[in-house]
Amino acid sequence: MSLLIDNIGLLYTGDPEREELTGAAVVIQDDRIEWVGESGRAPQTDERHDAQGRAVIPGFVDSHAHLVFAGDRTAEFNARMSGQSYSAGGIRTTVAATRAASEEALDARMRALVAEMRAQGTTTVEIKSGYGLTVDDEARALRLARQVTEETTYLGAHVVPQGIEADAYVRLVTGDMLAACAPYAKWVDVFCERGAFDGDQTREILTAGTKAGLLPRVHANQLTEGPGVRIAVELDAASADHCTHLTDADVEALASSNTVATLLPGAEFSTRSPYPDARRLIDAGATVAIATDCNPGSSFTSSMAFCIALAVREMRMTPLEAIRAATYGGARALRRDDIGVICAGNRADLVVLDAPSYVHLAYRPGVPMITRVFSS
Ligand SMILES: [Zn+2]
Repeated sequence: MSLLIDNIGLLYTGDPEREELTGAAVVIQDDRIEWVGESGRAPQTDERHDAQGRAVIPGFVDSHAHLVFAGDRTAEFNARMSGQSYSAGGIRTTVAATRAASEEALDARMRALVAEMRAQGTTTVEIKSGYGLTVDDEARALRLARQVTEETTYLGAHVVPQGIEADAYVRLVTGDMLAACAPYAKWVDVFCERGAFDGDQTREILTAGTKAGLLPRVHANQLTEGPGVRIAVELDAASADHCTHLTDADVEALASSNTVATLLPGAEFSTRSPYPDARRLIDAGATVAIATDCNPGSSFTSSMAFCIALAVREMRMTPLEAIRAATYGGARALRRDDIGVICAGNRADLVVLDAPSYVHLAYRPGVPMITRVFSS
């Protein structure tokens, strides 16, 4: 089936050759983009969608989300907004609820969040484990996630659960748990942070994951400066996520590497913390992505548009840099070159905005603006 999306007022392609086109059209053939060009010059198609002068952008690529969980942390958020500080320990609350939940309940919650994301323009989402922290519970989370996305991440090293010594837990994460999870995972991730896993443990876990055929990514430098970013770059991780507290050496390392700096401003918003300095990273030449970090504790938003608005207002990104980071940047953070850019041959993931420009995502924050989502 071929479809023409015609009368696009402003097409943000993400293609560096022609990043923005006015008066544009796109032709989709089945699940692929076949043609991009000037409205009125498109080849014949079976069907036609009139965009009526609206803006069209690539589907958002949300490269960092934790969607397999049970329970709720409203009380913790409420307490934090009433003056208490956030520490990594809150993860254990969700771990207890997730272990106690049925597979059906976890699956339903995850699918509801994926649907919520899709309705808001997200056409690719990465999903992590990390709320099971036993061999069976981690494998269960990844088995469920694998049913809705190919971008699945083994995060057994989210936090050391209660009742086990850190060294013994690292042996489990690099041993039996890894063996049980690797068949369902593409990526391996570690929360490298004070109170979670230190540099040596992070390197050991990522190296074990790589040997099992997984690709590394790291929760790095969220709450404090630490070795996370350096290890990510050293191991050629696809992404170092958070990057809130960086030294000059960290910024230089990211800028001269293939490792994307994935910024998660929803986490700073929801923990009332200082935002990462996107300007510093971009000016140094690093590739930046924006993602939601959707999780019940520190960032319970599924909205990429909200994160774009935060990036522009709070992280000194231009609207163009923010839309690029939410599409092309996310694709780079997943080492994908078939999504995040509207060009012939790529997947037919497109979003029609009820606005004349992508700038409105930041200009009109909080306003629903996604009118149509085309997803391969
Ligand atoms: Zn995360």
